[in-house]
Amino acid sequence: MRAAVYKGKQKLVVEDLPVPEPGPGEILVKVSHSAICGTDVHAFLYDIAPPGAVMGHEFSGTVAAVGPGVTMWKEGDRVIGGGGTPPPGSEAPLRRQEQYNYRLEGFSDTRKRGYAEFTLLNDWAPLAIPDNVSDLKAALTEPCSVAVRAVRLSNMKLGDVVTVLGAGPIGLLTMQAARAAGARKIIVSEPSATRRDTALQLGADAVVDPSCEDVISSIVNLTEGDGPHVVFECAAAPSTLDAALNMVRKKGSVMLVALAWESVPMLPVDWAGKEIQLNTTFGAEPYDWRVALDLISNGKVDLEPMLLDTDFLTLDGIQGAFEALIKPSTQVQMVVRF
Ligand SMILES: [Zn+2]
Repeated sequence: MRAAVYKGKQKLVVEDLPVPEPGPGEILVKVSHSAICGTDVHAFLYDIAPPGAVMGHEFSGTVAAVGPGVTMWKEGDRVIGGGGTPPPGSEAPLRRQEQYNYRLEGFSDTRKRGYAEFTLLNDWAPLAIPDNVSDLKAALTEPCSVAVRAVRLSNMKLGDVVTVLGAGPIGLLTMQAARAAGARKIIVSEPSATRRDTALQLGADAVVDPSCEDVISSIVNLTEGDGPHVVFECAAAPSTLDAALNMVRKKGSVMLVALAWESVPMLPVDWAGKEIQLNTTFGAEPYDWRVALDLISNGKVDLEPMLLDTDFLTLDGIQGAFEALIKPSTQVQMVVRF
């Protein structure tokens, strides 16, 4: 099978590897679509993915074979590569450790995952794809589950005025999850014109361009001078967390969704007097995945405008795609199609 193997030093090489055999309790999935996630781009940019790893955790496909003892799945079942409930002891480290530092934890995962024609999963790991959801859209359940968790942990209430900073895939999904949860008005800040247009198509009430306007005063003005109740920071630009804390209204909440891998400047005296809350969210739990799949299936999250034709690639284009994504990008979502 063909797989994009990480070689270290920002190099992905497509190689021929043997198709893995599912062991007891495992299933073999033939990958259909694999979306490129910002987490993988960070692993590439900062060269922290271990050499030999095949990244890719946002994928969909079809069960091609089942290992001994597997009764939950049969050949031909359509699945996404996550969302199942792990048995006790198999939870991700973040869910079982009292202390968790994503950067210092290290990246030891050398599994062959979604940037390959086939991948192995534990039988408990995937979720079934509903009949009315295509494989392509199902591949985006993972980023959608991240948006669902961000909204669920944000203290956002029915009728709140919301701002989303950054209209990459996570920002566009967070915006839609906030609308589904009852946001009254949604303002999106994004420097790329393409992404601002996508935000408007997906129902943003207003967009602002932080590259040519003062984002804090523009957004405060759009909220009758009060500031948003909740700000979702989905950009991780040097200034966005401080801007979020500066624009949110008194007693409001900021939800940090994007991960900045470098220090970001903050001046707490500017905003501490508003007695605001700063919350964080990280990844998603199985329940968030199920909510995400419901929202995609019932159309409350619309993936169509995020999936522009130009953003599809084959495995051979993956090195070029990653090189493009480590620079400021205008692509909304890139997907490897097998
Ligand atoms: Zn992801």
